[in-house]
Amino acid sequence: MLQMRRSRKKAQHEPYALHVKTGDTVLVLSGKDKGKTGVIQRVFMDRSKVLVEGLNKIKKATRPNPMVGERGGIVEMSAPLAAAKVMLYCLQCSKPTRIHYETLSSGSKTRVCKHCNAQFDA
Ligand SMILES: [Zn+2]
Repeated sequence: MLQMRRSRKKAQHEPYALHVKTGDTVLVLSGKDKGKTGVIQRVFMDRSKVLVEGLNKIKKATRPNPMVGERGGIVEMSAPLAAAKVMLYCLQCSKPTRIHYETLSSGSKTRVCKHCNAQFDA
């Protein structure tokens, strides 16, 4: 049974940069959407979670809200999943990949594919 936690638990650790960012294509490694790919819509740094478009669907019962013109009923929506369950997917070589960081001549950092050296943040 899927349960949603109502109260926001305080983060267990200081937020640190994740290996993925909004707009990245990722491969899901475990869970009900294992093996599927999707695009990251939102990153929750404090909870180390990511929201992937169209994946980790949950059914949520909503009450009607006439103020916004919402009908009540069961709405299907995507829920955030743990960032550790996703792996960055390289569109250049069509493989899930690990990254390393490189500094560009302009001084900005970019993530680079371990397989084909494609730059993600160029
Ligand atoms: Zn690659």
